[in-house]
Amino acid sequence: MHPPIRIRILASGSQGNAAIVSLRPRDDAPTHLIIDLGLSPRKLCGALAVENIKPHEIAAILITHADADHLHGGWARRWPFENAKVIARNAHHRAIANAGIQPSHMLDADADPHAFSAQIKAFALPHDKSGSTGFRISTDGVAMGWATDLGRMSGDALAFFAGVDALCIESNYDARMQQHSSRPDFLKERIMGGHGHLSNVEAMQAVLHIHGKRALRHIVLLHLSSQCNSQDLVRELWNTHAPELAGDMQVATQTLSLPWLSVGQPRHCNWSESLFAAQY
Ligand SMILES: [Zn+2]
Repeated sequence: MHPPIRIRILASGSQGNAAIVSLRPRDDAPTHLIIDLGLSPRKLCGALAVENIKPHEIAAILITHADADHLHGGWARRWPFENAKVIARNAHHRAIANAGIQPSHMLDADADPHAFSAQIKAFALPHDKSGSTGFRISTDGVAMGWATDLGRMSGDALAFFAGVDALCIESNYDARMQQHSSRPDFLKERIMGGHGHLSNVEAMQAVLHIHGKRALRHIVLLHLSSQCNSQDLVRELWNTHAPELAGDMQVATQTLSLPWLSVGQPRHCNWSESLFAAQY
């Protein structure tokens, strides 16, 4: 039986972000969501075809913010999602329209819209000038959270995500690698100054806080920097400081999609039995 929520992260990182969220089917309604359109239409539609998902089965597209790695410019020329609404905070609507997406497709994320059977809540996160958007998607008694491209986790943000079953959160950089990188100081300040990205330690602390309120069943780390981070560093950090959660933690990558993650099923069914990892 289809669990309430299934998540497949297709790509995550500064070269492009996109994920499919599939809801338990009912009737003939569209049952799939997409989070971020950071892949080209060719790549994303190819990935949907591999999953046997038709564009008209997409109920909604959630846009965290309009940076090019989350909204690829190619979507201005090709829009196959005839039934989909684009859910984004008003602060991003103009930039999304400038990228070529019709305003008539857009819904205000702050209005707590529903997409198919899911309730979607949005939370403004600090990131550069226009901010980013955290999402909480709830259906059939389970919930998932999505938090990427944020400079810090405030107490209100932690409260927003408390109680989710699955949390996908950015773990962008290792602080030492960032500080010792050859990047210019202004860029380091932009990333580390509270309006850029979360470090590995900041992400882990946020996860531990949220897990302390109610146990998380699934953790996925997103948007690792290719220059200032590595999976080995992340796993070492978690194995040392959060060993009880390290086994439930997955790390998304730029080039390999993660297997489907099932939210709302017994733990032994969490991950797809298939070890197939498609490259997009
Ligand atoms: Zn990004």
